[in-house]
Amino acid sequence: MRKTEARRSAGIVSWALSGALALQPLPRRALLIFRNTAYTARLKLESINARPSGFTQTVELYATIPGLLPIHEQTMSKFSPLKFVLLMLLTLTMAPLSHADWYKDEQAIMGTSIVVEIWSADAGTAQEGMWAAMQEMHRIDHLMSPLKEDSELSRVNREAADHPVKISRELFDLIERSLYFSRISEGAFDITFSSVGYMYDYRKGVAPSDADIERALPGINYRHLILNPRDTTIEFTRKGTRIDLGGIAKGYAVDNCITLLAAMGFHQALVTAGGDSRILGDKGGRPWMTGIRDPRKEEESAVVIPLSDTAISTSGDYERFFERDGERYHHILNPKTGKSVKDTRSATVIGPDATTTDALSTTLFVLGWKKAMTLLESLPGIEAVIIDSGGQLHYSSGLEPPKPPG
Ligand code: ADP
Ligand code: MG
Repeated sequence: MRKTEARRSAGIVSWALSGALALQPLPRRALLIFRNTAYTARLKLESINARPSGFTQTVELYATIPGLLPIHEQTMSKFSPLKFVLLMLLTLTMAPLSHADWYKDEQAIMGTSIVVEIWSADAGTAQEGMWAAMQEMHRIDHLMSPLKEDSELSRVNREAADHPVKISRELFDLIERSLYFSRISEGAFDITFSSVGYMYDYRKGVAPSDADIERALPGINYRHLILNPRDTTIEFTRKGTRIDLGGIAKGYAVDNCITLLAAMGFHQALVTAGGDSRILGDKGGRPWMTGIRDPRKEEESAVVIPLSDTAISTSGDYERFFERDGERYHHILNPKTGKSVKDTRSATVIGPDATTTDALSTTLFVLGWKKAMTLLESLPGIEAVIIDSGGQLHYSSGLEPPKPPG
């Protein structure tokens, strides 16, 4: 499953090429930008239709973020033949001096696709960075996978109803962080969802019966978890309770990878695990133009947002699901019912770190857009885009469509 590829383009070359892209018609889609930023002046706004879901043309992919649809960068200014020729000349003269490249590795870990992209002056160093990041993904998978019998998390699920189980500080801290999101959302985010959730198998099209759900439902409640910070133990107050960190662990893993890459001296990188991404720096002096997938059209984005130095997570009802008798069974459960949430198609959260955005994307998905927007008011520095069950777009107050110039 290993696919390593280096994109042979010095930064300046891709800049010149994106100048050339200005000759092509721009796709129609909703563009959202952050309020009070300098982006507005740099984007070619005339060509962008700010209506949601109006995107009619599939665009060339610039990078691959599963769950998100990254698109090629748009030109930042009007195409000028003179500027283009000058840039090409500059490119030809400077390219031999500049050896920095984007390097990319993609692997299947944690039941999802992991992508690491690094900007580096040296291929060997980039390989080391990508290797270290993938190793970290494996490490967290071995610690927290509910499917691996020898993971720490599996041991907790086997024993914590009988006695307090001593766990690593790392697992303890992430469980504690999960409880924070449970508290602020009145239990919309709840890692004990797994007390019912473990009975679903989306790949095989298996769902528990109503009777099974009713029997297991009392096991769901984050208050059943007793954490003792002094000796880092966890205990369940109830038999039948199980935990699963699927709504937060990938974001946590992404954060660890970015911390690692930054410590290794990289300044520009992107790490993605399924629907969770974090961007270190930017993309050659400009933001990554990041697309949020249209939940019902795999190859199209509903929204595009310029991003740098930030984290973004999307929870969607299209990630893992099956349909039966017209009903969609997907992997985000309402802890109150033990059934798939119906009111949301996707929830995207942008924030400083991926642990937060991962947990919050699941949280907001469960809450539904109205309660989600209320919760967001109390969370500074967090923005969100939610697509409801009718395909309607809702976004938080820190985002806005760009104003037409002039
Ligand atoms: P993914 O990147 O796997 O699509 P999401 O961030 O969308 O992850 O979260 C979905 C995962 O979160 C599910 O696969 C499950 O492991 C877990 N989950 C489902 N419902 C809840 C919930 N109500 N609270 C916390 N975690 C949940
Ligand atoms: Mg999540």
